[in-house]
Amino acid sequence: MPIRNQVIPGALSWRIGSKLVTTLSDGYIEATLEGNLRGVSKLEAAELQRKAFRSEDPRYTVSAFLVESDDEAPILIDTGMGQFGGAVAGHLLESLRLAKVQPDEIGTVLLTHLHLDHSGGLVNPAGEPVFPNAQLLVHEAEVKFWLAEDAATSPGQNHPEWVEPTRNVVRPMASRLKTFKDGDSVANDLTAVHLPGHTPGHSGFALQIEAERVLFWGDIVHMPAIQMAMPQAGVDADSDPKQAESTRRATLASAAASRTLVAGAHLEFPAFGFIQRAGDEFHFVPELWVSRI
Ligand SMILES: [Zn+2]
Repeated sequence: MPIRNQVIPGALSWRIGSKLVTTLSDGYIEATLEGNLRGVSKLEAAELQRKAFRSEDPRYTVSAFLVESDDEAPILIDTGMGQFGGAVAGHLLESLRLAKVQPDEIGTVLLTHLHLDHSGGLVNPAGEPVFPNAQLLVHEAEVKFWLAEDAATSPGQNHPEWVEPTRNVVRPMASRLKTFKDGDSVANDLTAVHLPGHTPGHSGFALQIEAERVLFWGDIVHMPAIQMAMPQAGVDADSDPKQAESTRRATLASAAASRTLVAGAHLEFPAFGFIQRAGDEFHFVPELWVSRI
């Protein structure tokens, strides 16, 4: 029998205090250094990829995160690429099925930002909401950046061609859209952390249960082998490259110093672990996964 040639779903869970945190694979993005990398030379970046045993052309894994507890409907952090995923991404719902959660059970969708690899899964190709019972929460600056009338020409908007498709995935959820700002409580034990630079409203979500803490982020890092070693490395989609760099440095440094667990949409699947600091460089150390939750 020929071996399978298909996209496979993935869902791995960890218990954090009274909650269950699950990384859901959406798939991956085939990128190129020329197309995506900014701020360091291609030569340096290629060498870092080689040292880390990665192909020169990066593959970003795309993950979303599920937070479940006994006292609240499941919370989804980001939605994957949905219809924009091409052949190898947009598989979030298959992974959600592995976690034994139905889309209509999701009570809250928190978006780190509105780029389509995070928001594309909000609606199906017919334009209908995929999570019909969910409230949608997005940082107020992010909503303005993409939905304001002059969004296509606003400062930092380096991809005006993404404005219309972004509006199309948010519009069906408009009546259930709520904005937040830095420090707001977005769900039980979950607080918004504004991490601007990649986009104006790019945010993380800090889960704090007694002494246990997890920081969920979107696009602090896309190419871990490159950006952990050289945090000055940015990506083409950064709306404010300088601010993205300083946010990346500060976020990595603080996660390392406080030994905080981090969960990042483009950290390599299962994208859940710690940041270790060595001088000016950082390394990602995956959390241990065991087969019982
Ligand atoms: Zn992204």
